Formats: sequence, structure tokens, C-alpha cells
Amino acid sequence: MLKKLLIANRGEIAVRIIRAARDLGIATVAVYSDADATALHVQLADEVVNIGPPAAKKSYLNVAAILKAASETGCDSVHPGYGFLAENAGFSDAVTAAGLVFVGPSGDAIRLMGDKVAARGAAHAAGVPIVPGSLGRVENIDAGRAILADTGFPVMIKAAAGGGGRGIRIAQDLAAFEQAFPQAQAEALAAFGDGGLYMEKVITKARHIEVQVLADGHSAVHCFERECSLQRRRQKVWEEAPSRALSPQLRDELCSSAVRLALAVNYSGAGTVEYLYDEDADRFYFIEMNTRIQVEHPVTEMITGLDLVAEMLRIAGGEALRLTQADVTVKGHAIEVRLNAEDPARDFAPFPGTVDSLRIPGGPGVRFDSMLYPGYTVPPFYDSLLAKLIVHAETREAAIARMARALSELQIDGLKTTKPLFQALAADPSVQAGDFHTRWLEAWLEANAARLTPHQP
Ligand code: ADP
Ligand code: ADP
Ligand code: MG
Repeated sequence: MLKKLLIANRGEIAVRIIRAARDLGIATVAVYSDADATALHVQLADEVVNIGPPAAKKSYLNVAAILKAASETGCDSVHPGYGFLAENAGFSDAVTAAGLVFVGPSGDAIRLMGDKVAARGAAHAAGVPIVPGSLGRVENIDAGRAILADTGFPVMIKAAAGGGGRGIRIAQDLAAFEQAFPQAQAEALAAFGDGGLYMEKVITKARHIEVQVLADGHSAVHCFERECSLQRRRQKVWEEAPSRALSPQLRDELCSSAVRLALAVNYSGAGTVEYLYDEDADRFYFIEMNTRIQVEHPVTEMITGLDLVAEMLRIAGGEALRLTQADVTVKGHAIEVRLNAEDPARDFAPFPGTVDSLRIPGGPGVRFDSMLYPGYTVPPFYDSLLAKLIVHAETREAAIARMARALSELQIDGLKTTKPLFQALAADPSVQAGDFHTRWLEAWLEANAARLTPHQP
């Protein structure tokens, strides 16, 4: 078992990892930038190390500073959380080369599955259906034109190194494609340090359904699916499990394909295999694998009773996977919403500031994962995620009612948050019916802008 863990992250996920480590009796070291001296993860860890100035490049992405902190505090392991260095293969290698355990897959596994093009190839080879499009990188516009025969229009141009909803462009016709391709190349190079591109057919009315897997390099289980179709700018805002759209048979096919893929690449740790499900055609397609813990992992924890971060720590500590597939069962329905420091009434403009007072929802079936406390000032340098509100109930209908109830209890004064969006969504007939797809929310936002002014409760 691991003894002392450095958490190479901040915010709610750093807090989440500290909690799992402490439950397991593992000592924790938090790292923090100059902007985070008062952050909750710094307050909760056993030891803390300052790793540099506010800019992420100089602190949370500063591999040398993080490794130095780990060695000076005598850590035996590093958990990367999500974002920052979590899907950086070189970081996984550097941690291992320093004689420490990386809580996640090997650098080689990240290189294979964290590169979206390589992952498409691996999925294809494992017999998992992929979205029609290029196999391998599309090196130039001529090669791209040749792929158009398979994709048709609209076509999606995606960055091999993209993530977080960034690095994706849609072209409606040949002229738009020829204009977008070089722009996408330049943008990907600037944003991700890698100009590699690939192409996919656009699945117009898709649901985003992903499968959680846990593996130890030898065996793998799935922890069922999450549906994340409610998105804004290709970023998830509301996630739930199970998906309302899957028949038992399709669920079984989808989840077993994720396990097949994890086994095919000898995957180790927690990972998520993402798919698009075309409801009309009743077909699903692999889109990517996230080789890390995901923001929305709590919905899976609520329906399965597992602690996914604790399982990651156990696997990294060298224990064999404790679970067989029969051990993973589903109870009820869970929903998570992402409360961001953004003003939904002003096109989601960032709204950092100081939390004056805070009322946290509670009661049966409610979980609040956050780094907020009264008096905390949200720094303007990082992701706008403040908190995740997760609810669990016997049925989907009851979970939505419980979400509305929990939102009515939640009060965050001093900041603008996305709470009004979730209150409106919980009351929306299409959301209640589960009748949506990945483009649904954007259209809804255009039609319902007026409903997003805050109201209490
Ligand atoms: P999830 O499926 O866990 O929600 P996201 O893709 O939304 O994953 O990303 C989770 C976090 O990681 C977000 O904070 C996002 O901004 C960040 N992130 C993901 N990929 C990248 C990337 N390639 N570069 C920078 N940040 C990223
Ligand atoms: P990221 O790495 O940024 O998470 P993904 O490849 O997972 O990128 O795609 C993010 C979102 O973009 C998906 O959830 C979906 O809404 C949309 N998307 C991606 N690929 C396609 C596609 N081929 N057709 C339609 N929508 C897509
Ligand atoms: Mg994705």
C-alpha cells in the first residue's frame, strides 16, 4: 500500500483525493501556487509545498518543481487528478523515473490511449466501432480531401491532442473544410504543442455515453455507463447514470466493448471510454478514452457504492483488482451538475470573486464535492469549476426532484454561479423525459436565455 501521496492538482479534485487517501491511511502532501495559499486542499493536507507563481505553467504544470516537492517530503507516489498533467505521458514517465508510483496508467498507455488518433486505432483493432473517418493522422489537406468520401458533410476536424472540448471544428462544405484545415493545424499546435489532426463524420443527433473502467494490467471490470449529453461548447454540464437511452442488451454490448479495449491495451488504473450513441440508428461509436479520473466520477460512485479514487490508490499500490464484474452492481439513479463561477445570464462570462456566505445542501442522497468555504476568494487563473452537486435516488424522476430540492438549499453569496441554469434544466420537460442529445442544450440556451436570471431559492 502507498504510504505518502503527493497530489499534483488543486481545487475540488485535490480535496477529493486527499479524502480518499486519508480514508486509506495514506499521508498527503498538497502542492500549491502563490494564488492558492488559502485554498481548501492546502488546509486539508498533512503537509504543503509551494511550487511557484499563479500561472499554471510555472506551478501546476511545472514537473521539476512537483518532483522536487515529492522527493523533499518523502512521498512514494503522485496522483495527477484531472486536467493539468493528468494525461501527460512524459509526466507519468518522469514520476516513475524518479522512483515514485504514478497513480494512473504508464506513460506508454497514456501515449497510446491519451493520443486520440492512436486510441481510435487501438479501438478499431479491438473490434470497438469508431466514428467513420480517418485512420491515423491526416497530415495535409490533400489527405483530408480523400477522407471526405467516408465522412461526407458536415465533417469534424479534431486535434489528436485535444481535450476539454477544445480543438474541434466543423466544416459544412468543401470550401469551409479547405479554409478550416490549416487553421485547425495552427491552432492545435499553439494550444497543445501538437498540430496533429484527424477527421470524423459528424453524428448529428448523438448522445454522449461513456463507460467507467477499472483495471490492474491483467484484469478489468466496467462500472457501467454515465450519460453526459447535456453539454455547452462540447463541455459537460450535467451528467447522470444510468443512461435512459440504453436497452439492457445495448448496455451490455457497450460496457463489454470498453472492457475489451482496456484488456487489449493492458490498461491499469481508472479510465473512461467515451462513445457517441446514435439513437435513431441504434449504433454506438468510440470517440476517445480519458486515461484518468474524470470530473463526473461521483455519479458512478453513487450508483455502485464504490470509491473510485480509493480503488485507483489500491491498484497503484500494487494490489490486484479486488472486484469481479459480478461485484459491481447498480442501485438507483444519480445526477451531477457542475457549478462554475460563471454568469449564465451573461453568456457564461467568468465571475471569480469572494464567497460571502455559503449554505451547502444536505440530507438523504446529496453529496457536495467542492473547495469552497465562506470567505474563500476564487482566483482568476484556473478552471471555473467551484463545486459539483451530486444526488442519488431510487429512480431518475426522484433524482431530478432531489436535484431541484438540493439546488433550492444551495446558496453561494458573492459569486455568480451556474445554479440558475440547473434549476431551469431540472424543471424542463425534455430534461425530465430524458429527451436530449449533445446539441440540445445549446439550442435550449438560445431559446431560454430569459429564464437564467437568478432566483432564490
Ligand atoms: P471530463 O470528461 O472529466 O469532464 P474534461 O474533458 O471536461 O473531462 O476535462 C476535465 C478537466 O481537464 C477540465 O478542467 C478541462 O479543462 C481539463 N482538460 C482536459 N483535457 C485538457 C487538455 N488537453 N488541455 C488542458 N486541459 C484539459
Ligand atoms: P474532448 O477530448 O474535448 O473531450 P471528444 O472527442 O470527447 O473531445 O468530444 C467532445 C464532444 O464533442 C462530444 O461529447 C460530442 O458532444 C462532440 N463530438 C465529438 N465528436 C463528435 C462527432 N464525430 N460527431 C458529433 N459530435 C461529436
Ligand atoms: Mg471527451
